[in-house]
Amino acid sequence: MKFDKADNFRIRPLRRMVQIAFLLITLWIGIEFAIFVSQLEKGGHPTISRPPGVEAFLPISALISLKYWILTGVFNEIHPSALVVLLIILATAILLKKGFCSWVCPVGWISELLSGLHKIVFGRRENLPRWLDYPLRSLKYLLMFFFVWAVFGQMNLESLRSFIDSPYNRVADIKMLKFFLEMSATTFWVLIILVFLSILIPYFWCRYLCPYGALLGALSWLSPFKIHRHRESCIDCSKCTRVCPSYIDVHKANAVYSDECHSCWRCVDACPVKDTLYFSITRRKIKLTRISYAVLIILFFVLGTALAQITGHWQNSISLDEYRYHIRHLNDSAHGHNRGQVSEYGNSRQYEQQLEK
Ligand code: SF4
Ligand code: SF4
Repeated sequence: MKFDKADNFRIRPLRRMVQIAFLLITLWIGIEFAIFVSQLEKGGHPTISRPPGVEAFLPISALISLKYWILTGVFNEIHPSALVVLLIILATAILLKKGFCSWVCPVGWISELLSGLHKIVFGRRENLPRWLDYPLRSLKYLLMFFFVWAVFGQMNLESLRSFIDSPYNRVADIKMLKFFLEMSATTFWVLIILVFLSILIPYFWCRYLCPYGALLGALSWLSPFKIHRHRESCIDCSKCTRVCPSYIDVHKANAVYSDECHSCWRCVDACPVKDTLYFSITRRKIKLTRISYAVLIILFFVLGTALAQITGHWQNSISLDEYRYHIRHLNDSAHGHNRGQVSEYGNSRQYEQQLEK
């Protein structure tokens, strides 16, 4: 396996550190939540509290909360941190392009590691031909449009409120945990196929299927920051293009507008001519260094979650008693959904009556 000398140098250790930090936080949240649910299932009093960050894995619920918030000004109390995390991620895309994908998202990192396996297996990077790559890339946009249309185009205020209060939404975090811990054979094989395809075709999930990445890519068009190329000092060596995991022709662009650019900075590191590629607002104006980019993306999450905690938009309003009730009835039809239709939860008095039964 032969890498370009400058490939993945300098920026990689920094990006790795940030990726590892976010991966550890994700694992820690997952383990804490699994212990919390397990202790409740055993009927005991949990020795640890539920980590609100677990709601980061509820993007559909967050999208519904976003529309509800826009229409009513109310930040729902069922999964408030889901909306907080969604807003933070959208904000990073609007300011820093799709940096979330290559600096924060654990799935993005797994895709990157699997693309490394691809290079080991094939000896070099094998790209799909353009005639196949373009239509496949539209798949993630179709998925993204479907979810946005289903929420923003189809749900009225009543259906939004009904979903947010539904038993299904209230236990969506627990159902998501069970989805991974008690994986069905179908889920298992789908994951194996995705891993296999990601080795065969680098970044298969991120490039072709991830609707979240599509949403961030669309928003990244608004970002004032972009990779810029100083044409006068460029020696047309194409090293930037060769290392770009998104197959962008960086050496031909004055500025990289592509929705596929996920701000990995590999092109900047690969460029042999000082100050020829840089991440800036306009050509040579307000440049960001590698460190400042990393600090900014971390700050978005640290300050965003801190602000949510200070303003009371981080912890949800579901009591331990209510969780116990839901866990006992997790497999009831009332806690499931049928083609997006959810059962009514009822008002709090009805819930108290259900608890008393
Ligand atoms: S253009 Fe540069 S920053 Fe963007 S994806 Fe390609 S290598 Fe990464
Ligand atoms: S790596 Fe730098 S010098 Fe080479 S083509 Fe790209 S921008 Fe120009």
